[in-house]
Amino acid sequence: MKGLVTNRHAESHEPILAPGQIRLSAVRYLNARPLLHGLLHNMSEGRFHVDLHTPSELTRMLIEEETHVALAPIATLAHHGGLELIPEVAIGCDGDVGSVVLFSEVQVEDLDEVIVDSASRTSAILLRLILRHLRPGREPRYVTQNVGQQALGAQSPVRGTRGALVIGDAALESRGSFAHELDLGRAWKDWTGLPFVFAAWLARRDGSNATMTRHDVDQLIASYESGAASIASIAASWSGHNPQSAATYERYLTEQIRYRLDENALAGLREFLDRAAEARLLPPVELSMWADSRARTRATSLPSVDALLERAAHGGRLSYHDAVRLGEEASTHDLGYAADVRRRALHPHGVVTYIVDRNINYTNVCTTSCRFCAFYRPVGHHEGYVLSREQLAEKIRETVDAGGIQILLQGGLNPDLPLSWYEELFQWMKSQFPIALHALSPEEIWHLSRMENLSLEQVLTRLRAAGMDSLPGGGAEVLTDRVRRKIAKAKCTSAEWLECMRVAHHVGMRSTATMMFGTVDTQTDRLAHLFKVRDLQDETGGFTAFICWDYQYEQGTVQRAGETGTVLYLRMQALARLVLDNVHNIQSSWVTQGPAVGQIALRYGANDLGSVMFEENVVSSAGTTFAMDAAEIERHARAAGFRAVRRNMRYEWLTEPS
Ligand code: SF4
Repeated sequence: MKGLVTNRHAESHEPILAPGQIRLSAVRYLNARPLLHGLLHNMSEGRFHVDLHTPSELTRMLIEEETHVALAPIATLAHHGGLELIPEVAIGCDGDVGSVVLFSEVQVEDLDEVIVDSASRTSAILLRLILRHLRPGREPRYVTQNVGQQALGAQSPVRGTRGALVIGDAALESRGSFAHELDLGRAWKDWTGLPFVFAAWLARRDGSNATMTRHDVDQLIASYESGAASIASIAASWSGHNPQSAATYERYLTEQIRYRLDENALAGLREFLDRAAEARLLPPVELSMWADSRARTRATSLPSVDALLERAAHGGRLSYHDAVRLGEEASTHDLGYAADVRRRALHPHGVVTYIVDRNINYTNVCTTSCRFCAFYRPVGHHEGYVLSREQLAEKIRETVDAGGIQILLQGGLNPDLPLSWYEELFQWMKSQFPIALHALSPEEIWHLSRMENLSLEQVLTRLRAAGMDSLPGGGAEVLTDRVRRKIAKAKCTSAEWLECMRVAHHVGMRSTATMMFGTVDTQTDRLAHLFKVRDLQDETGGFTAFICWDYQYEQGTVQRAGETGTVLYLRMQALARLVLDNVHNIQSSWVTQGPAVGQIALRYGANDLGSVMFEENVVSSAGTTFAMDAAEIERHARAAGFRAVRRNMRYEWLTEPS
């Protein structure tokens, strides 16, 4: 079908739009087909480019400005905060929905763990609300996984006291396979008496939707009208490549799914957003309906910047659009003040923490060729190295003698070092020295996973068994693929970086999250990065801290510097403190910014001064050579008005404040 993009590879690349064409993106499930019917049959005469994605991908695309309008999950309204709801049609239910179901072998009351499909945030939040209602004070453990769109089969994660929330076509195909099914549409109806809206057409309020005319909106409605008249043929066509009969799909589309966004459905939608905000699962949002340009009254109901700062300073959740406005409109001083208020609330003792550890770069041989990296050497280069046991022992001994408790071990992606090399190394390090191992960034874990043909979980579990304690958040750079493709195109995608962290957290490790900005990134990329970290932290709680810094350009490095500098660094860190309401610690990056800026950063949301500096080759290769020992760090903390405390990777205090 013309203009329809469906394969995974195509998803990660933006289509070339004809002048005046609007990109429309939609969920790929059966229940979206009636809404898309007219569009896919070129009723709009090329006005719209239509492509299909998972629900969570649509949220990302709206934030990263990859699409103009999306038939997206309703939670996106609050998460993004700058969207308008296009009227009249949506995907909802008024009772049983059939395609959003919690499957289990035991009663809901007896569940200890629930696998949540990573494809949909709205359904995951709805599940949390319903389970809090059904079993107050006894939340199960939530584990996010990509459940996929196949019926749950023999390898099903549903076992014993573990259930799974399944959405879309996979849920339809899995009905009747398990002892218990909780239909979330029915559960919501029984609880509130209201319909539920799962997805609706959402358009960015910030001008891009100005191109959506009344005629365009009428086309979306007409597209549905044409779909409603063709339900039988949609169902028949779907059954041609799916397991159930056309009659079953037709019943689902006509008896369970509701497409009218009437007053009652809107009441259900508002109720969901209000309850999710009250439960702190979503930021509060003022529902904004699409209006054409003649009727548009310029966003008069938006909270003031002062109100946003006040909310964030007191721990209230910001939407993406709130953060955009703070980034654009708040003064640097006001951002810093709000971040400082938040820092004081989270860390009320007037204390700054730091760790005595050592960064060891075990090899500089790397196959990745990041444009900003002056540290790596290609395979076979005469300056390539792998540290010997003797060299490592000397460095670790120096660290331990200086009171060090941890080694931060990172290196290039060296194809000559198999997983067993790391296992033996870690076992040896742990047997010889009393140190914790904060080792291997997601990029290195992916490298081992691919090289050994093992899953992330298998690699991380083996490394953990060999002595690895936690994972540094290196290699994140900026977590949008637009940026990553330009500066480090051989590196893992942003989704893969996050997936590695997700798995690490699930196997019991803690990690940090970082952001190196200032290459080709824009504020949109940087804020998208913060929200991806926040989303994952909502799922796993596994990040102990966030650290950001700007790119340190060195003469001769391929990548030129983009938006960098002390003011931007302080603003980004303050924004991070305000957006990352679920990450407890923010580290000041004095290694790149210098000790004086590191001190100022303590008044822009940071509560930690990171690590003493023995050596750090990746940054120092780029010409940045700041160094402080423990006494210097403590002196700088005191001079900035704090007391200093040594900590471990989990930010537990190891000394009394001094
Ligand atoms: S930043 Fe890391 S992955 Fe990229 S080239 Fe340098 S060592 Fe390799």
